[in-house]
Amino acid sequence: MAEEEHELAVVGGGPGGLTAGIYAARGRLDAILLEAKPLTGGQILLTDVVENYPGFPEPLSGAELVEKMRKQAERFGLQFATAEITNVRAADGKYLLESAKNNYLAKAVIVATGTESRKLGVPGEKDFWGMGVSTCATCDGPLYGDRPVAVVGGGDSAVKEAVYLAKFASKVHVIHRRDKLRAEKIIQEQAFAREKIEFVWDTVVTEVVGDEGLTGLKLKNVKTEEERELAVDCVFLYVGVHPNTDFVKDLVKLDESGLIVTDEDMRTSAPGIFAAGDCRSKTLKQVVTAVGEGAAAAFSAQEYITGGPYGGG
Ligand code: NAP
Repeated sequence: MAEEEHELAVVGGGPGGLTAGIYAARGRLDAILLEAKPLTGGQILLTDVVENYPGFPEPLSGAELVEKMRKQAERFGLQFATAEITNVRAADGKYLLESAKNNYLAKAVIVATGTESRKLGVPGEKDFWGMGVSTCATCDGPLYGDRPVAVVGGGDSAVKEAVYLAKFASKVHVIHRRDKLRAEKIIQEQAFAREKIEFVWDTVVTEVVGDEGLTGLKLKNVKTEEERELAVDCVFLYVGVHPNTDFVKDLVKLDESGLIVTDEDMRTSAPGIFAAGDCRSKTLKQVVTAVGEGAAAAFSAQEYITGGPYGGG
């Protein structure tokens, strides 16, 4: 198994990881950014419109924003490699990051692996996965022009993506298990203003149904227990996320949700391991917080590697 050594390994190529990479490269660390797939980009790639990232008065897509960050990192000489890290082990004052292809040895590690979409776990969901069940409105929404679709969830992602889907679909049913949304108020206002969006309150999906393709959802009202079927051609799931932190779970302290616990300088419980972005235990999960944490993590990593913030102890 090939093994490469670097001063710093950043795991994850979303906004947190890319910003950590930009700062590390500008600090002239020998840093490599490891991504599970080429051009990973993180969850923000699934977002059609980013309108709250300062400095961009006009909305831009998540893909555009992350592409700009990547170009910036490349300009400063950050190294990139495709490797899905499955385990990290302590190795003589360094860390060995293991993947199926290559192993990487690094003095310090920044974990910025974000989260992945949760599923409902109801009958039919697996059968129609990719054939009517989706977690990416940006990718699949345009395929459902003038057809009825559903969105499940009441958070920022669900409501924001419902607004996006209303551009194409004939109807967007937002199925939420409570009668109050947790989405940001401005996003709620945008959804309430769209005639095509209809909220189905206090309701859960009990089954995804179809034949050759998806034809509808079985729903249950959690207050009245009433059951019915809703005819839709596609369902977009936005029922939260779970963190990609399994590969460091034996090394660093995680909270009850599996998110990495850090101090305010992004240090985890393991010396030399730092975390940034959505995989970190925190309240506000936004691009703007991820990038700030990426910068702080790189600064702390530099301090750890060199014995001082500016390269000298
Ligand atoms: P989230 O905030 O955790 O919301 C998940 C939603 O799914 C909640 O409404 C939850 O209901 C519902 N839910 C969870 N499990 C369910 C189940 N088994 N069945 C039915 N419904 C279920 O997740 P998110 O919207 O993906 O956002 C993740 C993070 O990214 C959040 O911190 C969010 O603020 C941030 N984000 C921000 C933006 C932005 O533009 N500002 C955009 C996207 C995401 P309850 O409300 O009843 O718990």
